[in-house]
Amino acid sequence: MSSLMNNYGRFPVAFVRGQGSKLWDEAGREYLDFTSGIAVTNLGHAHPKVTAAIQAQAETLLHTSNLYRIPLQEQVATKLAELSGLSKAFFCNSGAEANEAAIKLARKHSQAKHGAHKHEILTLHDSFHGRTLATVTATCKPKFQEGFAPLMPGFRYVEKELAAIEQAIGDATCAVLVEPIQGEGGVHPLGAEFLQGLRKLCDQNGLLLIFDEVQTGIGRTGHMFAFEAAGVLPDIVTLAKGLGNGVPVGAMLAKEEVASAFGPGTHGSTFGGNPLAMAAALAVLTAIEEEGLVQRARAIGEEFEQKLAQLVDKFSCLTGVRGQGLLRGLALNRPAAPLVTKCLERGLLVLTAGENTLRLLPPLNLSAEELDLGMGLLEQALSDLAD
Ligand code: PMP
Repeated sequence: MSSLMNNYGRFPVAFVRGQGSKLWDEAGREYLDFTSGIAVTNLGHAHPKVTAAIQAQAETLLHTSNLYRIPLQEQVATKLAELSGLSKAFFCNSGAEANEAAIKLARKHSQAKHGAHKHEILTLHDSFHGRTLATVTATCKPKFQEGFAPLMPGFRYVEKELAAIEQAIGDATCAVLVEPIQGEGGVHPLGAEFLQGLRKLCDQNGLLLIFDEVQTGIGRTGHMFAFEAAGVLPDIVTLAKGLGNGVPVGAMLAKEEVASAFGPGTHGSTFGGNPLAMAAALAVLTAIEEEGLVQRARAIGEEFEQKLAQLVDKFSCLTGVRGQGLLRGLALNRPAAPLVTKCLERGLLVLTAGENTLRLLPPLNLSAEELDLGMGLLEQALSDLAD
């Protein structure tokens, strides 16, 4: 009997080695990874530049404390500011922690902006923002919340419609928190028009606009940040997953006037922004730039979409393709979990998103041959399912 808690539904496979888009299990069997560890390894497994940066840093200094200057943090913050247009960064260790920081900053900022403490944050149906008590409350999906009452006060759930959001704004509302493309909820892009409308609505009502780009950020959508495609600059962005390519890193970016609500001692994290994590993040951002991986994700993402659309034409259980770049959802007219199992049997790693959607997130540097290989395995798995 395992001494591990039973809080994950795990597949009976253990991976012991990874290289690029490939993984190998204990028996030496090869798999193609179209999950990138759920958008974590955007650069593929064991990327040489990230490995070298981690090795060098591990030999030099792992961590001291955020009570001292950490030059690598300053470098990563500068790079993220140049890339995002949001000039201030706070570092933590996960997506949930980045969202926690955003929730706290939005509340703290309300006092400075409105001269009154406003605490309520609007989130959308089918959203996912994390598993800590505040972020699971922000997450509007009952299955993640069952048994954890009392949840946190200060969140209100709204439909994905601008009119519904406008109607939900009250005296205590300080922010709207959304994923530009809902990931766990089923790969549902909110769309440029909606995000632009949301920006306007927030401006008109003095609300902060927070984008959770934990899954969509760092090149995944064929843009460094999904908000670029919509031409909308949020007030706060949260990042994690792909920023460390497997090393735990979270980040909250904010406009200067918003970030100024945090003074010394207001918020912190022991490990957040440690030199090892920052060395990984810096290597990730540098490699993405040097290797043109955002452009690559956009180009191969379009090819991917076309090939997925061909499968939709061929298999009656498939009803459509959603998403952007290399964040794709394949909609089924039935639960997607059996197809995930069939894919695993064929040597292709994929995920579900919501009940009836297959989620596909290959590394940004996926080769054309690997794309063809993956599509072939997916087609075989679909045929297995039909048999
Ligand atoms: N936000 C989004 C959009 C996510 O997809 C996730 C993880 N699936 C999280 C937050 C939580 O991130 P973490 O597991 O690193 O806390």
